[in-house]
Amino acid sequence: MSSFLAHNHYEETCVICENLKPKGIHLYTSFICTECENDLIQTDTNNPKYKYFLKQLKKITTPEIFS
Ligand SMILES: [Zn+2]
Repeated sequence: MSSFLAHNHYEETCVICENLKPKGIHLYTSFICTECENDLIQTDTNNPKYKYFLKQLKKITTPEIFS
């Protein structure tokens, strides 16, 4: 059991599906739920769905170089 992830008891808004989810990972300042994480891993880069993921992920990777 991962005590690291089990530590998270609060629901957060997933940056991909935009729903409140209790479990997931943090990427930079954003949150990705476990379902989307798995989905992302299993989605082939040729799949149109992948483009949707990339679009959503762009919101996360806002580089600080622009500031
Ligand atoms: Zn999600």
